[in-house]
Amino acid sequence: MGLVGRGISQSRTPAMHMAEAAAQGVCGVYKLLDMDAPERCDLSLAQMLRMAEATGFSGLNVTYPYKIEIIPLLDELSANAKAVGAVNTVVLKDGKRVGHNTDLWGFAESFKRGLDGAAVRDVLLLGAGGAGVAVAHALADCGVVRLSVFDIDPDRAARLCDQLGANRPQMVLNPVTDIEALVAKHRPDGVVNATPMGMAKLPGSAFPTGLLDARMWVADIVYFPLETELLRAAREVGCRVLPGSGMAVFQAVRAFELFTGRAAKPGRMKATFDSF
Ligand code: NAD
Repeated sequence: MGLVGRGISQSRTPAMHMAEAAAQGVCGVYKLLDMDAPERCDLSLAQMLRMAEATGFSGLNVTYPYKIEIIPLLDELSANAKAVGAVNTVVLKDGKRVGHNTDLWGFAESFKRGLDGAAVRDVLLLGAGGAGVAVAHALADCGVVRLSVFDIDPDRAARLCDQLGANRPQMVLNPVTDIEALVAKHRPDGVVNATPMGMAKLPGSAFPTGLLDARMWVADIVYFPLETELLRAAREVGCRVLPGSGMAVFQAVRAFELFTGRAAKPGRMKATFDSF
């Protein structure tokens, strides 16, 4: 198994997969295939994929900037990958390349376990990029009735609402340009940050923290740091919060199952994630 992307040297994914395989008594090797590394910087994505097949990889995880670029190189897509329009897991089996999107299931599973019973009538999603699209579909699977989407690029928010609306005609989809007005009018049950704001290299919060109130739940998918500025402020106000580590762990749980055909233990994979 392996992870293909750029700037991935800090990824915890190889450790999660290898520790899980070892705990199951299986010899599993998971390689970090950083396309920025000197030995790979002249390789194309297509060449990388051919090499992985030729050397017997069971599958690859795919991350920035290849989640969309890889699609034309695949034979089939799962329903989730088709819906999201992005692939983060490729299974290589019987000469076929099948693309999946485990980010969607990863967020949904993390949400169901970490915010059990939370109200989902009305939710605000910040960020309509690659991860935001997967999270929006996951929120739909979690029963969200009305989803408002804010992005500093309003075209992205509108595109996501159109795309999701075409798949989920029962949902109310609402691209927004003014967060304060939206909060005053709809008083959302929950807020999800799927922008990179809050990362160690991009401090701050995309959601104005002065608008938080204890009645809301708040989820962040950023996990470096684990406690973002938004989550810290939400905790202080008394909101239920969901950190991004859950999505990171559950996308790996599902990928492990796809690669090996064996069920993974989420608690064990989370313990490896937390050990860093
Ligand atoms: P991306 O660049 O594809 O999309 C980010 C989107 O956020 C863009 O549409 C951008 O316009 C928007 N944006 C940026 N700043 C904003 C702001 N202040 N307000 C509103 N919108 C803003 O990135 P991505 O791949 O979607 O990743 C986003 C974040 O999610 C990254 O920090 C990434 O690390 C994290 N992520 C976490 C997981 C996980 O498993 N927890 C998985 C994937 C991505």
